[in-house]
Amino acid sequence: MTRPARAIIDPQAASHNLQLARRHAPGARVMAVIKADAYGHGIARMARLFDAADAFAVASLEEAVALREGGSSKPIVLLEGPFEAAEIATIVGLGLEVVVHTFEQIEMLRAARCRLPVWLKFDTGMHRLGFAPQRFAEIVAAARACAAPLRFMTHFANAHRRGDPSVAAQQLCFERMLGDTAGERSLANSGALLARPAAHADWVRPGLMLYGVSPLDDEPAAALGLRPVMTLRSRLIAVRRVAAGEAVGYGGAFVCPEEMPVGVVAYGYADGYPRHARTGTPVLVGGVRTQVIGNCSMDMMTVDLRPVPAAAFGDPVTLWGAGLPVEDVARASGTIPYELLCRVRMRAHYSEGAP
Ligand SMILES: *Cc1c(COP(=O)(O)O)cnc(C)c1O
Repeated sequence: MTRPARAIIDPQAASHNLQLARRHAPGARVMAVIKADAYGHGIARMARLFDAADAFAVASLEEAVALREGGSSKPIVLLEGPFEAAEIATIVGLGLEVVVHTFEQIEMLRAARCRLPVWLKFDTGMHRLGFAPQRFAEIVAAARACAAPLRFMTHFANAHRRGDPSVAAQQLCFERMLGDTAGERSLANSGALLARPAAHADWVRPGLMLYGVSPLDDEPAAALGLRPVMTLRSRLIAVRRVAAGEAVGYGGAFVCPEEMPVGVVAYGYADGYPRHARTGTPVLVGGVRTQVIGNCSMDMMTVDLRPVPAAAFGDPVTLWGAGLPVEDVARASGTIPYELLCRVRMRAHYSEGAP
C-alpha cells in the first residue's frame, strides 16, 4: 500500500462554483483568481477547470509564465504588477495585464517605452496597496503614456462581513474619484460578489468561492450553494486502545479521560495540516464526525475513535472537503480557510474526480 494521503479535486464542483459566480454577477466578466498555486489546488489544473472564466489573476510573473507555457491564451492579470523593471520585457512578450499601484511601477513602464493593459489600483480604505484617490488626476495623466487600455481597480478590506459599512464607503470613494472617467472598473472579491451586487462593476475577481469555500463570515458554503473542490483524504494506519490517564503523542497534549480507542491517521503538518489544530478540531472517520486529539505530527495525527467504535485499520478519513467544510477546521485551529488551503503540500498526490 502506498501512503494513502490524497488531495482529491472535484472538477464538477469547480465548474459549478464558477457558474454560480456568473449567475450572481450576470453583468460582469469573471477574473478567476488562481494565485498561490490556485489556493493550493494546483494552478495548471485549475486553469483548465476554470477555462470558462474570462481572465485569470495571479500574483507573480512565474505563475503567469506557467499558465502561458501550459497553453492558456486568456488574459492574465498580475495582481501586484511588476516587482522590477527586468520583468517588463517578459510581461509584454506574454501579453499580460498589470496592476499598477505605485509611481515606481509607472516609471518602470515609461522607461521601457512600452504600452500594455494597466489596472490602476487605488486605495479606497484598506491601506495595503494602491494610490491615494486625492492624486487621481495626476496618476491618470502619468499612466496614459504607457497604459492601453487604462482600467481601474480597488480592493475591499471587509467584504467578508455582509453589510459592513466600510464596503459601501470604499465603493463610494472609488466612484466619486472616477466620476465619469472612461475605463473598465473592478472592485469585488468573492465576498462582495455574493453580498454586494452594487459593487460588481465590469469585472468581478472571485477567488475563495470558486474553490467552494464560503467567503462570508458565519454563512456556510452549502447555504450559499457552493461545493468544496478540494477533499483531503487519508486512512487509519493504526487503531489502538489507550488506558485512562495515559497521554497521546508529542508533549502528551491529550490525556485519555477513560480507556478509549485512538486512531492514527497518515496525514500531518508536512501535508499542510495545521500543526496548531487543537484537540476538538473536527475530522471524519468513515463518514462519522469526531475530533483530532493531541498534537499533529509531521506525517501522522491522532483522532478520537469513541464516536466510531467499529473503526478499523484502513478506514477512510476526511480531513476537510466533502462532508466537512474547511471553514470548520479553520475556525477550530484559529486561522482562515485561505491559509489552510494554500498550505496543502500534496503535489505528488492529487487526483481528480468526485470525492
Ligand atoms: C486574492 C485577491 C482576490 C480574491 O479574493 P477572494 O477573497 O479569494 O475572493 C481578489 N482581488 C485581489 C486584488 C486579490 O489579491
